[in-house]
This record gives sequence, C-alpha cells and structure tokens, in this order.
Amino acid sequence: MFEFAKKLLFTGQFKMEKGSLTILTHRFMIIPVKVITSITKNAPEAKKYLYYGAKEGGVDFAEALIKSFKLDSVQKLEELLINTFNLGGWGDLEIVKNDMQNKLAIFRIKNSAMALEYGKSSEAVCHTNRGFLAGGASRVYGADMDCIETKCISAGDTVCEFITANKDYLSGNFPDLLKKQVLL
Ligand SMILES: [Zn+2]
Repeated sequence: MFEFAKKLLFTGQFKMEKGSLTILTHRFMIIPVKVITSITKNAPEAKKYLYYGAKEGGVDFAEALIKSFKLDSVQKLEELLINTFNLGGWGDLEIVKNDMQNKLAIFRIKNSAMALEYGKSSEAVCHTNRGFLAGGASRVYGADMDCIETKCISAGDTVCEFITANKDYLSGNFPDLLKKQVLL
C-alpha cells in the first residue's frame, strides 16, 4: 500500500494544493465516516444511491488507473484497486477468491471504517464498499457485476465479507441478499 502511495506521489499523480486533493485525474475529498453512516441510519432508502453511486465511481476510477498506469493486465488493475481502497482508509481489503473464468470473486475487509463507525445493526451496512467492489470487478471482468455483503462486523461477524458476481449467479445462490442489497 505505501509503495502505491509513493508511486502516486513521485509521479505527481497524488496532488494536494489550494484546497484540492487529486489522485490521477480524479478529485477526492476526505470526509468523516460519520457523514455516510449518518445518511445510512437516517435514510435507509439511501443504501441504493450509496451502492450505485460507489459502483459508478469504482468503474470510473478503474478506467483512470488503466489510462494512467497503461495497465495491460487485469491482475495489475485489481491490485491497484485494492491499494486504492486500503490507502483511502476504507478498511483492510483482501481478495480471498478470484475465479476469472466464472467471473466470481470473494473479498474480505477487516477493520471496515463504515461498519465500525456505524456500530451494531441487524443487517450488513457497508454499502459504499459493496459499490466500489462491484464497480471495480465490473471493469476487471469486463461485464456488469454486482456485490452483496454476506458477513458484516456491524451484524456481529468478525470481518465483512463480500461476493461479486453477475445477477444470475447471485439470484440463484443469494436471492434474499440480492433483493435486499442490489435490486432496490
Ligand atoms: Zn460490513
């Protein structure tokens, strides 16, 4: 992760100046996590917009990584997306399964900022994490992917766990979570 940060700094692709923070060609803004968790708590219907907004942002940022680093392999793209996630303070993200052939991935996040700030909940709460993973995986696999959260620290699990796959796979294997988290 720090290697990635150094690379961005030394190549001038991480810039902080005159009230702006830019990574590659994208403007970023550091905000307290509570801004997002407060939206999720006060307006549960917002999870749809947090998820799809983060998904769009994930696709968009993956495009920027490909262009800026002239990436020619999906593995490299995946690595940089994970680095971006971790560098951004979202949590400690790792990929535990990556089935390129069936376009299916499983991710785990330890220390999820969203879940720890949110506190206890009866269901998974990391909607922006799901969106970013869905967007990144869509670009890595070259197809429309979605993401469900099957375990969440807020719901009492020790880590947050996510599955990205297409809607057909998710509706066959996780119909309830697909309905609750994606088909909103
Ligand atoms: Zn979670």
